[in-house]
Amino acid sequence: MKTIHTCALLLAAALQSQAMAQSITAPPAKNIIFFLGDGMGPTTITAARIYKYREEGLLNFERLDRTARIKTYSNDAMVTDSAPSMGAYMTGVKINNDVISLQGAKPRAPGKDANGNPSVDRCGDNNGSAPPTILELAKASGRAVGAITTTELTHATPAATFSHICNRNAAYTIAQQIVPGGAGYNPRLKDGVDVLMGGGRVYFTPFDAKSNPHGRADGRDLLAEFKADGYFVAATRADMMSALPNRKFVGVYADSHLDYAADRKATQPTLAEMTGKSIELLSKNPKGFFLMVEGGKIDHALHDSNARKALEEVVDFDNAIQTALDRMRQLDPGLDHTLIVVTADHDHTMVMNGYPKRGNPILGIVHDYATGQPALDADGKTYTTLVYGGGPNRRETRVDVDDARAQAPDYHQETAVRLPGEGHGGGDVKLYAAGARAASFKGTIENTRVFELMKAAAGL
Ligand SMILES: [Zn+2]
Repeated sequence: MKTIHTCALLLAAALQSQAMAQSITAPPAKNIIFFLGDGMGPTTITAARIYKYREEGLLNFERLDRTARIKTYSNDAMVTDSAPSMGAYMTGVKINNDVISLQGAKPRAPGKDANGNPSVDRCGDNNGSAPPTILELAKASGRAVGAITTTELTHATPAATFSHICNRNAAYTIAQQIVPGGAGYNPRLKDGVDVLMGGGRVYFTPFDAKSNPHGRADGRDLLAEFKADGYFVAATRADMMSALPNRKFVGVYADSHLDYAADRKATQPTLAEMTGKSIELLSKNPKGFFLMVEGGKIDHALHDSNARKALEEVVDFDNAIQTALDRMRQLDPGLDHTLIVVTADHDHTMVMNGYPKRGNPILGIVHDYATGQPALDADGKTYTTLVYGGGPNRRETRVDVDDARAQAPDYHQETAVRLPGEGHGGGDVKLYAAGARAASFKGTIENTRVFELMKAAAGL
């Protein structure tokens, strides 16, 4: 009896020490890929799902097995803009609207230079402190790091990963912060962000009255400086495809933002191609990598109250996520050492209205679920399923909406409150996660908590 008891104890002790050893040596997420669908609120996801797969389908990222709801308010606003919400994900700190990864800073818009471009930094001294970003922490740990977007590379979302500045519109200053060795460089990026992709060439190249009227007033050619520092500098999709690993990479594919997916020029890569290339380059680092991928044009289309383009951009973003899942499952089967997070920075004011029949085109006018006939508003006029809370498109007296017109590529949905442009929504957004430590993402949590969970997962 005693022997059996001792054996059981020994066995239990052995199992316990084995479990402890495993928990101590269990590698944290070596790799993190953070996908940010700018403005991709819950209704936009549902509408994109119906647009692509009908009601019963799912987008690829909706198949990730862990989910959470995220509160997005900023330090000073109930409804956030992209800068502090991305800053919260990247630094774990609530930040004021319009501020890029600076705690307690007041947003002071840049002043105009002699050419009329807003390049004069007016942030002032001691205007906020800079908490480390997850990209900076990953770099400090020896990992490779990257940030890629379909917007300007200096735009709020990518900027919040590698920059600290009191105003999101200080694009010329943000550009300086990522060029190693030059004035204004962010030294926390050490030898430089390993992969950078997006648009915004004007902020990286010198002013010229004819050829580059929005260029830099200080005469610096930051793309040439990148090259001198050893970067592979790409201007087109073809350039990007030819890049080989073991060199830092910067791809700037447009003067401003990249094109909408539906109108994309052949010289610009797709977000999925950019994602695949980034993984190819970054995954060569044996210590792992952090990559931020932004589907930034979802937000632009919603601001333009063009639902079709917004839904197409979600599908494009979803393709990039599927590319990452496929590549990472080849490199890390089971995703045991890779954490993939997909979320949005804030909602928009688009809603699904009326009681459309199942299978009715999501972009069309409402056809009643019972009769199949066009549904009418209180004044006897037809209306679309997708409408906005705020935006420019409101008439004093509504007129019938033609179904074909409502589904045209350039249709702008109607709005309740007349505003110069459609704005952000303050509702919670969704988060999806898969892979290493993905189970920690659950419940309704602050956006700042996402930083803590990623940091813990990566052991940073
Ligand atoms: Zn945003």
